[in-house]
Amino acid sequence: MAITAPMLMFAIGCSASNDGGESADLRPPPAVNQALCEPLHRPLPTPNANAYRFFASDQEAVEHAKVLFPTISKKPPLPAGHALQAQAEALISELYPTFRKVYPTETQGLDKPPRALIIEDDEVNAFATKDSRVQPEVYPWYVAFNTGAFNGATRDDLLGLVGHELGHLLLRNYSAAVKNSYQRHYIVSGDEQGVFGAYQTDDKKVAKRAAELDHLRARVGMVGVPEVGRIPQWPFHPKNRPPFYDDVVTYAFNKYKPQSADPSACTEVQTKSLEVKQLLLQRWNPDEYTLSLDDGTKAAIASKIEPLREALRKCLPVIKRTFTSLIQEKYGKLPGALDADESAAESKYAGKDFVAEILELNELKHKALAELEAKTDLPLESLRVYEEEEDADVISARVLREHGKDPRSVSLYLLHNHSSDESASQCFAQIREGSVPFFGALRDNHPTTCWRHWNLDRFARTLDVSCK
Ligand SMILES: [Zn+2]
Repeated sequence: MAITAPMLMFAIGCSASNDGGESADLRPPPAVNQALCEPLHRPLPTPNANAYRFFASDQEAVEHAKVLFPTISKKPPLPAGHALQAQAEALISELYPTFRKVYPTETQGLDKPPRALIIEDDEVNAFATKDSRVQPEVYPWYVAFNTGAFNGATRDDLLGLVGHELGHLLLRNYSAAVKNSYQRHYIVSGDEQGVFGAYQTDDKKVAKRAAELDHLRARVGMVGVPEVGRIPQWPFHPKNRPPFYDDVVTYAFNKYKPQSADPSACTEVQTKSLEVKQLLLQRWNPDEYTLSLDDGTKAAIASKIEPLREALRKCLPVIKRTFTSLIQEKYGKLPGALDADESAAESKYAGKDFVAEILELNELKHKALAELEAKTDLPLESLRVYEEEEDADVISARVLREHGKDPRSVSLYLLHNHSSDESASQCFAQIREGSVPFFGALRDNHPTTCWRHWNLDRFARTLDVSCK
């Protein structure tokens, strides 16, 4: 139910310089940083050669994945011998020797490249995974590619993707021990001359503040307040929505509407919610986190919101339950993101009209977050978090560069195949103009595609001036 929708509105103004080729290159020159010339080796709890399960044939790998993939909500792979499997394995075999050259320690004993599996799925995606059914630290030595990953992709694009996925395999990003050794380093970027992620240390003070913000955001969704400007809020897109808020509202609606004295109002709630949702979804780009509402859409949404709220009030009887107790009812316990403070805050709503409570509570939470953000001394626009995705990007850039290819191939792959032409050319133009693209939300371990490209672009140029 889209009852928080009216609070969502602000668009992220991408500087709209037209095509790609013409505008002047205003990127600041990269600073020399020789520390980047040697790859960062992180200690692994066990050598990779002991952590992987190997497959004597594609057939054997397919059989393994057939059982494993459904347990991780993936479709089983296509039978061995698929043409795309041969194509993927050729790309992996081409890049793998370079990979071993750049990362000799991590690839010690891994003489054969990983196998490739193909999943019939139009989504542009590929993944490496672990098999926790057996033991916590066993990983299948293969990479899975969706059929959609190949659509329209150039050979270099695909090499970039392969470099990224091999990076995940190499670092065993799915191992809790490995992950904990580096995940979520928070920093406030400085003059953007340094290369983010590659050698930064975690700033404890920043980490504490960022974790607070993160915690509060987890309770209210991706919240944006005008002071922070470009941090978006969008609780409804399945890819971006908060862990439970929406679900609980839907749960309460479905549970209590049979008691309603006005079933037609309940139907209207559903119809109107869907209409609002559709209007917003049309204007929302989940990869770039941009919601660009034109005046017509804004007016169309506004005209639906008040009737929607009115219908909601008519539909739902007064529920003598707090939002927290509904969460408990639905999940059996409070999610970790809801703490004692919040339960106390909610107790004053006990016995109130449920709809009024949700609306009020929502505003209360937004206000609390705005206050926290206002009093924080962090320049939030510059807050960055480093996780495995940037790590795999950086690995891919090193390997592709050594291989004589564009080090930015993986982010070019994403821009070519995962973004609209319009947002890709806006991204290229924005980078050439020397401005820093929108980073994304702290809670998402994938920064925006354009930010990833900017980061790799800067990384590649720094390598060029530093490591001849
Ligand atoms: Zn990845």
